[in-house]
Amino acid sequence: MTGNLHEECGVFGIFAPETQDVAALAYYALYALQHRGQEGCGIAVNDDGLFHSYKDVGLVSDVFTPERLAALGPGSIAVGHTRYGTTGSSARDNCQPMVVNHVKGRMALSHNGNITNASELRRALELEGSIFHTTSDTEVISYVITKERLTAPSIEAAVSRAMDRLDGAYSLALMSPSKLIIARDPHGFRPLCVGRRPDGAYVAASESCALEAVQAAFLRDVEPGEILVFTRDGVRALREHCGTAPRRSCIFEHIYFARPDSVIDGVNVHEARLRAGACLAERHPADADVVIGVPDSGLDAALGFSKASGIPYEVGFIKNKYIGRTFISPGQSTRENLVKIKLNPISAVVRGRRVVMIDDSIVRGTTCARIVGLLREAGAREVHVRISAPPFRNPCYYGVDIDSRENLVACRYGVEEIARLLGADSLGYLPAEDLCRLIGTRRGEGYCSACFDGDYPTAVPREGEKNRFEYKISEAKKA
Ligand code: SF4
Repeated sequence: MTGNLHEECGVFGIFAPETQDVAALAYYALYALQHRGQEGCGIAVNDDGLFHSYKDVGLVSDVFTPERLAALGPGSIAVGHTRYGTTGSSARDNCQPMVVNHVKGRMALSHNGNITNASELRRALELEGSIFHTTSDTEVISYVITKERLTAPSIEAAVSRAMDRLDGAYSLALMSPSKLIIARDPHGFRPLCVGRRPDGAYVAASESCALEAVQAAFLRDVEPGEILVFTRDGVRALREHCGTAPRRSCIFEHIYFARPDSVIDGVNVHEARLRAGACLAERHPADADVVIGVPDSGLDAALGFSKASGIPYEVGFIKNKYIGRTFISPGQSTRENLVKIKLNPISAVVRGRRVVMIDDSIVRGTTCARIVGLLREAGAREVHVRISAPPFRNPCYYGVDIDSRENLVACRYGVEEIARLLGADSLGYLPAEDLCRLIGTRRGEGYCSACFDGDYPTAVPREGEKNRFEYKISEAKKA
């Protein structure tokens, strides 16, 4: 419940030994990855080299009616995508998978992450005559791969050569007429894992919860820098990019993005959040009667705080499950009401009590202030806010849409001032030095925490805005 912070994207791929209803399996997997992006989604199916695809803005359940799924037909390979656009607007063209025809065949591409040198690559390609149809950096990736394919002996060799040129974050699921190829950038910013179904089909997904949704047993995480090629002859790993850069998986996946039932790089997300809560109890104890969590990603950390502190955990909020992203407020003064419609405190739990409220992060502070206000209205005697992440102070260039610095409350105020703004009796953040305890490494080892500490693992892009490839006509040069 972070307010101005958005999920990124989810990717999925399947390679089945026989033709079957791979579209339906992709649909189930995308459902499990819906939390990673609600702006749009798509599926591309490969039936013996013929591609059928559909994509649109909206939730998986809205975009894929039974008729649309059936129209995709059976196949042996499929890729899918759920989107929250971190580069490009949310128009249908920017939805994925991106299906392209090139001189050596066809390709469908799904991407999670953000390419930090996309502007430079795009400019160079445009100067060579390339014409872009979308404003997303995924099209830049597809151009780089198809261009390399002109001289590369295979599509996987083209992907490998493209990886020499791409900087930043990318977990890819790519389908050619006869292969499924998945790849993870050498830093491993975004998660990617593989599994296998009882019928022998291989599946790959951003999170292990999507493997379970299609009855696939988890095999392993894709190594940072690794390319896996699935063909009728089996699976092949290309590892020339492995170990070329330090591992920097996004720590915020464990705090907020990922589903708690997922395992990322060997760490169970639920357990990581329990540890975050325990760290908070140790670093910022509170004299209180009850611990509650803000749904959804504050709940596990609240349980961890409770276990470590001995203060009882209770369900403090009811979240309305039926509000989709298309919810439109029909009247005035709606922002106040909106939080209450989405989230309502259980007054019997908080009335007259000293409450510890755990949330996953604070962006602008406005949403958190409203939630604290709701607890006061419900009769809470004291509200002690604990945040299972350090303060946000920097933008993310790797696929997460964090607000600009001027809007980040931690860039403008100290902890005590923020507590006052929230209307809280006290406020405590997870210390940055404790992030390593979430995933069991040493400080600064194996994870990215740049949005908290500014320690960026790559050069940062000169143009980082989400809509940097969108032009107003008045800004465009005359043709
Ligand atoms: Fe994750 Fe923050 Fe790094 Fe972005 S900057 S990859 S959100 S830890």
